[in-house]
Amino acid sequence: MTDMDFSYIINELAEERENYFNAVSPPIMQTSNFVFKKVDDLRKAFDNEMGGYLYSRGLNPTVDILRKKLAALDGAEDCLVFNNGAAAIFAGIFANVKAGDHIVSVKAPYTWVQRMFDVILPRFGVSTTYIDGTSTGNWEQATRNNTTFYYLESPNSWDFALQDIKAVAAFAKTKKIVTLIDNSYCSPLHQRPIEMGIDMAMQTATKYIGGHSDTLGGVLSGTHEMMKKIFNSEYLNIGSGIQPFNAWLLIRGLRTLSARIDRITKSTVQVVQFIKQHPKVESVIFPFDESFPQYQLAKQQMTGACGLFTFVLRTTKMDSIVAFCESLQHIMMAVSWGGHESLVIPKCAGIPPKDFDPANREHRYIRMYVGLEDPGYLIADLEQALSKII
Ligand SMILES: *Cc1c(COP(=O)(O)O)cnc(C)c1O
Repeated sequence: MTDMDFSYIINELAEERENYFNAVSPPIMQTSNFVFKKVDDLRKAFDNEMGGYLYSRGLNPTVDILRKKLAALDGAEDCLVFNNGAAAIFAGIFANVKAGDHIVSVKAPYTWVQRMFDVILPRFGVSTTYIDGTSTGNWEQATRNNTTFYYLESPNSWDFALQDIKAVAAFAKTKKIVTLIDNSYCSPLHQRPIEMGIDMAMQTATKYIGGHSDTLGGVLSGTHEMMKKIFNSEYLNIGSGIQPFNAWLLIRGLRTLSARIDRITKSTVQVVQFIKQHPKVESVIFPFDESFPQYQLAKQQMTGACGLFTFVLRTTKMDSIVAFCESLQHIMMAVSWGGHESLVIPKCAGIPPKDFDPANREHRYIRMYVGLEDPGYLIADLEQALSKII
């Protein structure tokens, strides 16, 4: 995708302004249903709901503008836009497994995906093996005769572990295994999994596409055939499609996506540099930092690293981690990322205090997201909070 393609997608693709008074911004088609004059037309809509507008649990014109833009951004034939990222992943997996099937997944995928693999799918006779996905050989070794699905997340959103996407996709093809990747960390601006041979790319639109922490959304891209299969079953049946107003907010977010990502990418490098050299910091995990174990692979398959990184304080005390997080004056503590506001989240918040194990480095992780603020303002805040640790 060239910058010119990107400009066209963002400003023009799928926008039929002459149909709505030449308004620059498209209307929010806030309707549940669509009217028919001919029984025959209604019959056609029942036969192929993805062929037109019938009912907004299926397609809706505002959602369609977003859908066409997002598919083009992913370099995919088609996509479906869900009410959130978790729903997009759920539909992509659920539509492609049946009782008796086996899934191979990267270890520690996004929380709700892990919940699906551990709690929901076993009830339907689908089992999952988690692997260290950093070695392509591990995918091959974990594959059984009944393996039908590979789940990738590259980079992971806490430790940024990568998979060699092209190699895993190529191996999966030889075994007719369906592949789905969570591409949320990079967004299609920084990594293009469909072009690398992956069947379905997912990203949460809640993060960079929305960009303002005011709505949720999720994207699942792939072939038209695959999207139609999912539309006709999980999408319509679970009813997890995005609604027109939220779709409109995401179209609005898209207009400034590349400007925001550029700024965040640049600011993050400055913040990482500051954190890395600070005496109270033990280590930093960031895919585009030379100390990152898979730095070469990161540079090979990603064109940028964006705003998320993790660091570990030079302390074994949970109290010190708490003191640091609670001393921040401007950087907020919250889940999510991709908005205008910088955030931190300490891993220990998800661990019962009695189970906190300082010898386990992961328990001491603090994840930071760099938003749109001035990097100097963020660095000053980090500096004063680091000075509060005893
Ligand atoms: C947030 C997130 C999701 C889920 O997206 P929602 O829109 O919150 O449902 C999936 N994967 C990653 C890596 C995320 O950060």
